[in-house]
Amino acid sequence: MATQAQTELNANAVMKPELTTNGIPDVPVIQVQDVHKFYDLGETKVHALRGVDMTIQPGEFVAIMGSSGSGKSTFMNMLGCLDKPTSGQYILEGTNVSSLDKKQLAAIRNRKLGFVFQGFNLLSRTTALENVELPTLYAQMGKEQRQARAKEVLELVGLGERMDHFPSQLSGGQQQRVAIARALVNKPAILLADEPTGNLDSRTSVEIMQIFQDLNDSGLTIVLVTHEPDIAQFAKRTVVFRDGKIRHDDPVKNRPRAAEVLKSLPTVDD
Ligand code: ADP
Ligand code: MG
Repeated sequence: MATQAQTELNANAVMKPELTTNGIPDVPVIQVQDVHKFYDLGETKVHALRGVDMTIQPGEFVAIMGSSGSGKSTFMNMLGCLDKPTSGQYILEGTNVSSLDKKQLAAIRNRKLGFVFQGFNLLSRTTALENVELPTLYAQMGKEQRQARAKEVLELVGLGERMDHFPSQLSGGQQQRVAIARALVNKPAILLADEPTGNLDSRTSVEIMQIFQDLNDSGLTIVLVTHEPDIAQFAKRTVVFRDGKIRHDDPVKNRPRAAEVLKSLPTVDD
């Protein structure tokens, strides 16, 4: 039975949506309803997603797992507005994106989503600072403001001292930090990461997870794909795909703090 406080809360929610600190209405960040995806290969069709439902609230940290071919990347590409479902609904911060055209999808992608990939995907002849500044070119900001914002996020990921370095002058972990800063520069509603630690050694992987946990602590919603159970445990919730369907969806119990785990891991020099 609902308490009086809850009833008042619900009434308020209908009259005036709660606002989060950054002014975004407190609705689910992501609502996926009965999504199917077919890849049409001429003679054959691949049924990559077979009726997927998922709701992600602001501030969640979700790890998506599952064996190769289970549909993880197809699902992430849809969340990232890089591809559309064949049927079903995808609602991003209250906007039904299933019906948008390519141009509208690109605009949403740039405004609401940050991406981190396994291979970093940095421009090689461009400094860390310039790499991070790139996505702000489409934002309504002056040159100075854009650069200040890029510096701010590079400092946030601990690369304040290396802004003028080119990717080849940075370690894998540092390059991934640049990529994370680039993903954050436009203040996305959600950070999407597909195997972000796939190219990194164990210690560096945990350092990246420390950054993710810190960002999540400060309110950022994160969805991460990984095939490593150790990495998934740093999230708050794990979702397991198999054959295009969600087979498990569970909260993480006794979640380790990456900062603590790092204390027990040998440093590179050891
Ligand atoms: P995962 O990321 O879990 O390895 P994917 O989403 O990449 O899985 O793939 C799910 C299924 O869809 C697989 O059978 C894969 O072969 C197929 N698939 C993925 N992308 C394409 C594509 N662009 N064209 C055709 N089939 C695809
Ligand atoms: Mg994949």
